[in-house]
Amino acid sequence: MSSLFPTYQRFDLTVKEAKGSWIIDEHDERYLDFVSGIAVCNLGHGDEDVLHAVQTQLEKVWHTSNLYHLPLQEEVAKLLVKNSDGDAVFFCNSGAEANEAAIKLARKHTGKSKIITFKQSFHGRTFATMSATGQEKIHSGFGPLLPSFDYLPYNDVNSLDKLVDHDIAAIMLEVVQGEGGVLPASQEFMQKVEETCQRTGALLIIDEVQTGIGRTGKPFAYQHFPVSPDIITSAKGLGNGFPVGAMIGKKSLIESFQPGSHGSTFGGNPLAMSAAKATLEKIMNEKFLEVVEKKATYLVEQLKTELNQNSLIKEIRGIGLMIGIECSEPVAPIIDLLRKNKLLVLSAGPNVIRLLPPLNVSIEEIEQCIAIMKQTLLSSEYSVVAPIQG
Ligand SMILES: *Cc1c(COP(=O)(O)O)cnc(C)c1O
Repeated sequence: MSSLFPTYQRFDLTVKEAKGSWIIDEHDERYLDFVSGIAVCNLGHGDEDVLHAVQTQLEKVWHTSNLYHLPLQEEVAKLLVKNSDGDAVFFCNSGAEANEAAIKLARKHTGKSKIITFKQSFHGRTFATMSATGQEKIHSGFGPLLPSFDYLPYNDVNSLDKLVDHDIAAIMLEVVQGEGGVLPASQEFMQKVEETCQRTGALLIIDEVQTGIGRTGKPFAYQHFPVSPDIITSAKGLGNGFPVGAMIGKKSLIESFQPGSHGSTFGGNPLAMSAAKATLEKIMNEKFLEVVEKKATYLVEQLKTELNQNSLIKEIRGIGLMIGIECSEPVAPIIDLLRKNKLLVLSAGPNVIRLLPPLNVSIEEIEQCIAIMKQTLLSSEYSVVAPIQG
């Protein structure tokens, strides 16, 4: 009997080690990893620069708490501020914690309570972030939820027009709904979100936990849209596998958090900061991000050419290397077969296959992915092919 709470439905794969875009299992089988720890290992597994940075920091100091100054926190914060519309950063340890900080700051700053979020959104599993999440199945059994969260239909301009309430602290959203099915916002919708914030006095919070840190080919995904968020939250890819989260806020909000307003024992831990610094120095670079966009274009083009004639496939969508393949039937058995054929992908809702390859995935690896998908999907009952060697 397992000694773990059964909170996860685990796939039939036991990880021994991982390097670059590959995971090696207990039987030394190699799997092409287009999951990246759920958009976490954006530089692949065991990136040499991040590894070196953490190793160096391990020898210096692991933890001293936030009772003392830590120059590394300032350095990472400067990198985040430089690459976003924000001016100050609060560090924490996860996406949910970053969103918690955002919700607390929005309420404290505005003195208002209501937070507007969207159906099919995902913002985390803590009480506030679960309450912010617009999915019945995530709430089930945990009520009563935190009050004052309202869920509007995503990409629906009319429902924003109807918002006349002036007790709204913030509108909070993902610009590509990740867990909700890899659904990108439309330009029109984002413009309306920005206008609605201005009209009602609500702050704009963009949850970039999954979309941020180069995933879409920009430092943060909101930069594809005509908006300037008051608060941005980040986590997943920020430490390339080292747990770390951040809330980035605009100048006007800084004074609303004072000593004692909020905090975290581990937040901004030196090891996490060393990982984040090395990760950001590599990813927040125009040339690196240009290559991400090129690879993303190539991957989507190849998927469309090779798979689109299949009646199973309804739509291929996404931004950058956050790609959803919507199918006409549940994808769980397809994902199982892809894994048997040595390609790891994940779902986003019941009918969408989600691809989240490392941002530095090679063209050859993209071609291997396409070959496995093609062979698996195009046969009428899918088929187990001979593993492709990487
Ligand atoms: C994963 C995710 C979260 C939660 O992050 P955790 O680190 O698991 O707490 C929040 N928002 C979005 C958009 C996510 O994808």
